[in-house]
Amino acid sequence: MRAPSAWPARLALVFLFLALSGASLMLWQQLEQSQQERLHERVSYQASALTRQLESTLQSEVGSLARIARLWNNLGRLYQEDWETEADLALRGFPAYQSIQWVGPDLKMRWLRPLQGNEAARDFRLPTDHPNYPLAMQAKESGEQRFSNSVLLVQGGRGFVLYTPLYLRNARGDRQFDGFLQGVFRVEPLMNELLDQIDSDEFSLRLLENGHSLYSRERSGTLPDMAVDVPVRLLNNDSFTLQLSPTHTLLQQLSTPLPQVVLGAGLAISLLLVAALALAQENARRASALQRANRRLEVEATRREAIEQNLRDSRERLQLIIDLTDSSHDGLFIFDTRSRELLHMNQASYASLGYRAEQFAQLLRDNPEQLLPGFHDWLEQVRKAQRDNQSRIFQREMCRRDGSRQPAEINTQLVHQGAREYLIAVSRDNSERLALEARLQRLSQLDGLTGLYNRRFFDHQLKSEWRRLRRIGAPLTLLMLDIDHFKAFNDKLGHLAGDDALRQVASLLQESLQREGDVACRYGGEEFAIILANTGLDGGEHVAARVHELVASLAIVHPGSPDGRLTLSIGLAVAEPVGEESPAGLIARSDQALYRAKHEGRNRTCIWSPNGVKIDPPV
Ligand code: GH3
Ligand code: MG
Ligand code: MG
Repeated sequence: MRAPSAWPARLALVFLFLALSGASLMLWQQLEQSQQERLHERVSYQASALTRQLESTLQSEVGSLARIARLWNNLGRLYQEDWETEADLALRGFPAYQSIQWVGPDLKMRWLRPLQGNEAARDFRLPTDHPNYPLAMQAKESGEQRFSNSVLLVQGGRGFVLYTPLYLRNARGDRQFDGFLQGVFRVEPLMNELLDQIDSDEFSLRLLENGHSLYSRERSGTLPDMAVDVPVRLLNNDSFTLQLSPTHTLLQQLSTPLPQVVLGAGLAISLLLVAALALAQENARRASALQRANRRLEVEATRREAIEQNLRDSRERLQLIIDLTDSSHDGLFIFDTRSRELLHMNQASYASLGYRAEQFAQLLRDNPEQLLPGFHDWLEQVRKAQRDNQSRIFQREMCRRDGSRQPAEINTQLVHQGAREYLIAVSRDNSERLALEARLQRLSQLDGLTGLYNRRFFDHQLKSEWRRLRRIGAPLTLLMLDIDHFKAFNDKLGHLAGDDALRQVASLLQESLQREGDVACRYGGEEFAIILANTGLDGGEHVAARVHELVASLAIVHPGSPDGRLTLSIGLAVAEPVGEESPAGLIARSDQALYRAKHEGRNRTCIWSPNGVKIDPPV
C-alpha cells in the first residue's frame, strides 16, 4: 500500500498560515487606526487643556492691573508714589511685563514703570491712526479691559497692550474717563513666561495671529503631522490660534503597544498553530506509516509462523523418515561429493558392513576406495548416468570391515544445492539376490527330470564354445545319443520306469565326462547330447565308447529290446569351427550319424565324415 502524498496537507497548512497572518495584519491595522484616532483625540484634548491653562494663567497674572484700576476708580487718582509701588508689585508678580504705564485721558504717556528699557515710550501718545486706537476706544466706552493684537512697540519689537480704562467720579457722581492703565508685553517674554508656568514640554508650539506666526517654541522630536490648532482667547481677544505639535515622547506615553503586541502575538500564534498542526500532521503520517509497517510485520509474522509450522512438520516427517530409514535393511547415506562429509546415514549403512558409524564416516571421507572399490570412477559414472538420463542403479561391491566384499546394488541420486553437490545413495546387500538369480539362472539351464543341462543351455553352450574354439583354432566334437526302442520300454515297463531309466542314463553320461568344459545335456525326450570342447575325433570316440561301456554295465532290463537290456546309439561329428561351418551344421551332421547308427542296428556309434558316415561295430 502506498503512503498518501503529504503535499495537499502541507499546502493547506501554508494557506492556513497565510490566512491567519493576513487576519493578524488586518487586526493590527484596525487597532493601529483606532489607536491613531484615539491618539489624535487625546492630543487634541491635551492641547485644549494646555490652551485653557494658558488663557487662565494670563487671566490671573494680569489680575493685578484690574485691582489697581479698581483702587483708582474707587479712591480716585492715585498718588504717583502709590501707583509706582502698586505697579512695581505687579511687575514683580509677573516678570512678563515689558512695562506698566498710565496714559492720561489725552492718551499721552504720564507714568511708566520701569523706566529702564522703556525710555523710547516716555513721550508716547496714542495717535488716532495707531492700530490699537479703535481697541482703546472700545475699552474706554465699555469700561472693560481690552487686549490688543500684536503691534510694533515704540520700545522695539512686537508686543501686546492690555488697555484697562480708568475713571474718576466728579462731584455729581458721574464717571469721567481718566486714561488707561496699560500693561505692555513683548510677545516672546510673555509667551515664555506663560508657558514656563504651565507644563508644556510635551508640545512644540506656535502662536498664530490671524494665521500669521507670532511666536514659536520648538521641542525636539515633534511630529508636525499630528499638529492640532486650538483657538486661544487671550483675555478677550479671539484673534489667536495655538498650534500644538505633540512630541514623540508624548505620543509614546499616550499610545499603547497593543497593536504591535497583537500583530506579534497573532503572527506567533499563527506560526505556533501551523507548526502544531504540521507536527500533528507529521505525527499522524508517522502513525499511519507505523500502522502500515505493523500490518506488514503482522503479515510477515503470520507467514513466518506458517513457514515455521511447515518446517516443524517437515522436520517431524523427516525424523519419521530417518527413523524409518533406520529400521530399513537398505543402507541410506547422503554425502557431499567434494568433501565426502556425511549429511546423513542410517544404521544399515554401516552396521551391515560391520563398521561403527564414525568408522564408516571416516572411511568415506579419508579413503573411499577402501570402502567402495573404484569409488572415484563410480562417482563419475553416477554423474554421467544422471546427465544422460540413464539408469542410476549400480551393481558394486562394498568392503566389509573384515575385508570380505559385499555385493551391493546402489541406487543413486545427485542433488545440487547452490555450489554443493550431494549424493543420495541407497545400497542394498544383494548377495542373496545374486545367489538366487544364479540359482534361477542355473535352474533355467537344467533339465528337471535328469538334472543335466537342458536344450536351451545346450544351444547357448554350443554357440559360445564354437566362438571360443574358433578364436583359439581348436576342434569341437558333438555326440548325439538316443536310447534304443525306448517307446517299447515305456510300453512294457511303464512311464515311471522309463523316467527312472532316463535318470540313470543321465547320471551315467555325467560320469563319463572327465574333462572340465565337457558338457552333457538332455536334448529332448530320450535323446542326449555331449559337447566336447577342444576335442578331436579320438577323444570323441573315446567318450562314446566309455558311454556304451557304462550303459552296458548298468544292465537295465529292457523287455522290448532284442538285446533284452537297455542300449543307446550315438552319432558323432567333429568340427573345426572355421570358415563356412556352423553349430547348426555340426548338429545336423551328428544327427545324420545317429540316424545311421539306428539304421545300422542300434547300440553303436556312427562317425560323420565328408566321405560318408563311418560306423563303429555294435557294442
Ligand atoms: P528307436 O530305437 O528307433 O529310437 O526307437 P524308439 O522307440 O526309441 O523311438 P521313438 O523315438 O519313436 O520313441 C521314443 C520314445 O521315448 C517315445 C516316448 O514314449 C519315450 N519317451 C520320450 N521322453 C520320455 C520321458 O521323458 N519319459 C519316458 N518314460 N519316456 C519318454
Ligand atoms: Mg528318439
Ligand atoms: Mg529312441
